[in-house]
Amino acid sequence: MAPLELRPLGNTGLKLSSVGFGASPLGNVFGIVSEADAIATVRQAFTLGINFFDTSPYYGGTLSEKMLGKALKALGVPRDEYIVSTKCGRYKEGFDFSAERVTRSIDESLERLQLDYVDILQCHDIEFGSLDQIVTETIPALLKLKEAGKVKFIGITGLPLGIFSYVLDRVPPGTVDVILSYCHYGINDSTLEDLIPYLKCKGVGIISASPLAMGLLTESGPPEWHPASVELKAACQDAAAYCKEKGKNISKLSLQYSLSNKDISTILVGMNSVKQVDENVAAAVEVATFGKDEKAISEIEEILKPVKNQTWPSGIQQS
Ligand code: NAD
Repeated sequence: MAPLELRPLGNTGLKLSSVGFGASPLGNVFGIVSEADAIATVRQAFTLGINFFDTSPYYGGTLSEKMLGKALKALGVPRDEYIVSTKCGRYKEGFDFSAERVTRSIDESLERLQLDYVDILQCHDIEFGSLDQIVTETIPALLKLKEAGKVKFIGITGLPLGIFSYVLDRVPPGTVDVILSYCHYGINDSTLEDLIPYLKCKGVGIISASPLAMGLLTESGPPEWHPASVELKAACQDAAAYCKEKGKNISKLSLQYSLSNKDISTILVGMNSVKQVDENVAAAVEVATFGKDEKAISEIEEILKPVKNQTWPSGIQQS
């Protein structure tokens, strides 16, 4: 099998595998995952060329970080062979983007991950905090963590796309290295596309997460907590059923759609089994070699047309 493609991440100098490993499922967010399965899944991902692993203290109330830490240690490979991103500011107990909390947070994360540093530390879902606090207090605190060597690069994450330019317009160039957007570059919603020229111009690396729209674009459907409207959920299930009838797999087509835009450094997929890793890496290699299945994708786009770019509210009203 051809190797998984590596893509540059903005101005960081890092090269990320086109498929990144989303570790939220290791926090039992999409169902129970045993420690043995978590370790085997991460090992398979690394073996097949995935070098980027994303987690957060929020996922499974710290469980995802602990599982990922154990699994990375079990790999027994030099630290510079994998890239780890975690987050700060969002916890099981709620949001806290204060300098004091995020400074404490990285030490807690490093302990759970059993690492000396993380490659990327991201402020998690900033639309739930004050964006002005992110600019004036949180990011300056993260810069100190960078100076201390605990963090190599700084990022921000969230759902509404407007949060990224709000922050990036207000911090000195080169301060925020990376953004992580989710559920905005998939077959049902591709609105991230409009922001890409702005991000490229600023040299900010682009990570796009949730190509399967957090389970909407899977045959088994989304988890109970999924925030999409009834209409959006129903349309995605219709699309999944249509694909199945045609002998196609909606998850594979969705991932391939997301991977086709090379301005996006990595597509983060949540994976909880060796089988999912195998399928997703195979889908990535196939699309890099043969291109995407245009016909099947346009048929799905047609089914999803009435809900195209429909999203859901996230965060607090900013003053
Ligand atoms: P996703 O769209 O990647 O979907 C994950 C779901 O799809 C899980 O149920 C998984 O088991 C299933 N799946 C994966 N591969 C499959 C396959 N081949 N066939 C069928 N089902 C498959 O959503 P996600 O996990 O929420 O997002 C990916 C990652 O991105 C997260 O784990 C997290 O690391 C990151 N993320 C970050 C933020 C944020 O920072 N705000 C938000 C969302 C996601």
